[in-house]
Amino acid sequence: MARETQSRDVRSALFQHIDDRYDEVADLTASLIRIPTINPPGDAYEPCARFLGERLAARGFTVEYLRAEGAVGDSDRYPRLNVVARIEGASPGPCVHFNSHIDVVAPGEGWTVDPFAGDVREGRVYGRGACDMKGGLAASVIAVESILDQGISFAGAIEISGTVDEESGGYAGVAWLAERGYFSPPRVDHVIIPEPLYKDAVCLGHRGVWWSEVEVRGRIAHGSMPFLGVSAIRGMGAFLAKIENELYPRLAQRRTRMPVIPDLARQSTLNFNSLHGGLAEQDATGGFPSALVADRCRLVLDRRYLLEESEEDVKQEVVDLLDALKAEQPEFDYALRDLWSVPPTMTEPEAPVVRALDRSIEAVLGAPARHVASPGTYDQKHVARIGHLHDCVAYGPGILELAHQPDEYIDIDDMVASAKIMAAATLDLLNGSTP
Ligand SMILES: [Zn+2]
Repeated sequence: MARETQSRDVRSALFQHIDDRYDEVADLTASLIRIPTINPPGDAYEPCARFLGERLAARGFTVEYLRAEGAVGDSDRYPRLNVVARIEGASPGPCVHFNSHIDVVAPGEGWTVDPFAGDVREGRVYGRGACDMKGGLAASVIAVESILDQGISFAGAIEISGTVDEESGGYAGVAWLAERGYFSPPRVDHVIIPEPLYKDAVCLGHRGVWWSEVEVRGRIAHGSMPFLGVSAIRGMGAFLAKIENELYPRLAQRRTRMPVIPDLARQSTLNFNSLHGGLAEQDATGGFPSALVADRCRLVLDRRYLLEESEEDVKQEVVDLLDALKAEQPEFDYALRDLWSVPPTMTEPEAPVVRALDRSIEAVLGAPARHVASPGTYDQKHVARIGHLHDCVAYGPGILELAHQPDEYIDIDDMVASAKIMAAATLDLLNGSTP
């Protein structure tokens, strides 16, 4: 009983301290937003990594700056600089790692505020990356600093990393570090990625991706006598009709046990990224293009698939449609090229990091945690596939739908609540109980 009372006191002091840092979490988020780490091309990675590293070094962390030399996108102009900070506990034990990507997508049109000013008003911080995911990064920093501020003893170690290029696949970021052992035991045991998936939800994983290009090949002829050629655009039209009539209805039937949000993403989906056939609409001189039957038409497919499907099946389904068309129309000819793929990944709901976050969410918010999965991929794939570490989830404040939108923001209250949950989950994982 005495011990429980004591640990309750520790917890309420920790939570009070995080509440008192309301302005600080907003300031830290705003400062991060003001470093415009736009990707592509990968602007300002170095100042952002150093800003984070210097702050944590001042708190006693050992800080490493790791440039992904030779990785895709790395150059002297746009160095892919990652930062990993680590602090040891009082005794040996496991390591909890908070990983955030520091890159943001371009602001785009439609903003009513400056996307890189880091405006704070009415309880929100505005700017590109506020929600995805500088707010989550700030919450994790405040969470860990607060454990240190309160002098709470912990076993093992805590790490915080800021990594690059998540928005373009993470190959110079988490993938590169994972190849070098930064996301594997014995160095790291539990990974929390503070992506914006709601303060009351633990994100177990994400669907798979298969990107491919279908090229329909025709035969060129004079546009005034199309019957002398074979139009690749008409061939593509026939393929699109098959997708519409046969594939889409089938995909809509295919539901998954993965708790994907929003609900309409809890199935297989297909998007067309681009379509192009024939000559460019206008030539470089601004004149009309020549009258030609299109001999090439290209379509890029973005197929999102489920744990219950395999990449081979997903691909075969498209090949079967194309081959059926070829059987019906002898002049139909095509080539299929794989562009990119990521398998689906999902941490089991019983995994230690999930259970610790579940308990902490319930303790802070007074309601049971939701389990969700992300419609799109994020860096968890590299931790699982390259690091072979499966005790990894996404948990962070912010509203998923605001990511990549104009007037992106994050609620400061949500960051404060998430920081408490992150701090409590960290102590749960390291010390075996919530404080
Ligand atoms: Zn993100």
